[in-house]
Amino acid sequence: MCDVVVIGAGIIGMLTARELHTAGYSVTILEQGQAARESSWAGGGILSPIYPWRYPEPINRLAAWSQQIYPDFCEQLREQTGIDPEWIRSGFLMLDTDEMEHALDWCRERNISAVSWSDEDLHGREPELSAAFTHAVCMTDVAQIRNPRLVKALREFLTKMGVEILEHRPVQRIVIEQGQVTGVETAQGKIQTGRVVVAAGAWSGELLQRQGLGLPVKPVRGQMLLFNARPGLINHILLWEGRYLIPRVDGKVLMGSTLEEVGFSHEVTEEAAQVLRDKAVTMVPALDGVEIERHWAGLRPGSPSGVPYIGPVTDIDGLYLNTGHYRYGVVMGLASARQLRALIAGDEPILPVADYAPGSLLERVAESIPE
Ligand SMILES: Cc1cc2nc3c(=O)[nH]c(=O)nc-3n(C[C@H](O)[C@H](O)[C@H](O)COP(=O)(O)OP(=O)(O)OC[C@H]3O[C@@H](n4cnc5c(N)ncnc54)[C@H](O)[C@@H]3O)c2cc1C
Repeated sequence: MCDVVVIGAGIIGMLTARELHTAGYSVTILEQGQAARESSWAGGGILSPIYPWRYPEPINRLAAWSQQIYPDFCEQLREQTGIDPEWIRSGFLMLDTDEMEHALDWCRERNISAVSWSDEDLHGREPELSAAFTHAVCMTDVAQIRNPRLVKALREFLTKMGVEILEHRPVQRIVIEQGQVTGVETAQGKIQTGRVVVAAGAWSGELLQRQGLGLPVKPVRGQMLLFNARPGLINHILLWEGRYLIPRVDGKVLMGSTLEEVGFSHEVTEEAAQVLRDKAVTMVPALDGVEIERHWAGLRPGSPSGVPYIGPVTDIDGLYLNTGHYRYGVVMGLASARQLRALIAGDEPILPVADYAPGSLLERVAESIPE
């Protein structure tokens, strides 16, 4: 018997476990496969929504809260585990956007540092960028982390803290008796607990659906390419027409990504590789001929507006959600976990509760997921 069972050892489940453990709860994470090998491993690690002004405030509020904490959090992980998550303030360059004025106003209103760069500024700072680009908005303080390292460090840190992570332990069913959670069923037997947090990423909707609870969280596949480029080829995260290039410390450059509703398939396609490669070369011609070291796909936990569900489920005592982070779970995760901790422990929530409230899953009807 433990105080809380968390379903899913992605970034959201692990950050939730960290918060709850710190608040004094005994926590067990159950993971159907290997910890931290799904979306949280596969993503890009940009610590901001892309074109953030296009997103609802609840997403930007979670991101802004986490952005403040990230540097210290990464430092703590590095000190405790020896694994460096490579938090770097790369800056985020949005190339040839026709939303320049709106973007600058939006940033100014929120005290977010942003500047507009003309042709000369742009090519002075990014000499390998295609000459076709003439201007950009730079959000100078946007950082990135190397998410595979972050989740590896987090996993190690949790184990050191005393959080139990049981791998290859798929939860088949949440046991609910007379409106109260009493445990979970796994292939290896029942685990008793009075509180369950569903942090099962893209699988959350399906898991709940199996027991008649409706949650519109579905997998949205994203494919990525990794170029084996030289350090310093590009200096900022570059974004153009929805696709981005992320420079890592060792010179490797990530190109992302696709948005595909193809169920739970992790397959990669030649077509996507071609589209991503062509886009990358159009942005930075020097990438032409650079070896593509790896091509992979991850399944984002897609929710209708991209706003995650955080909090208790109405009508079922002891059932909580922290899921549906769609495209921005890495940047929203720290805040999202703190918010849920507050709701479970009865502390003051950091953000308006209603914005993320799951409501009743018995009444929910499926909604579609926009791009
Ligand atoms: C290509 C791509 C690029 C991205 N880029 C960014 C970015 O730059 N910045 C950003 O902030 N976000 C980004 N994201 C989004 C981000 O990765 C996700 O929002 C985040 O990882 C979701 O975390 P999670 O823990 O909910 O899901 P996951 O990491 O998928 O973890 C869920 C876990 O639950 C487990 N699970 C599922 N069902 C069960 C069950 N029944 N029993 C036990 N375990 C179960 C799964 O095996 C999995 O390990 C990107 C995602 C992709 C795919």
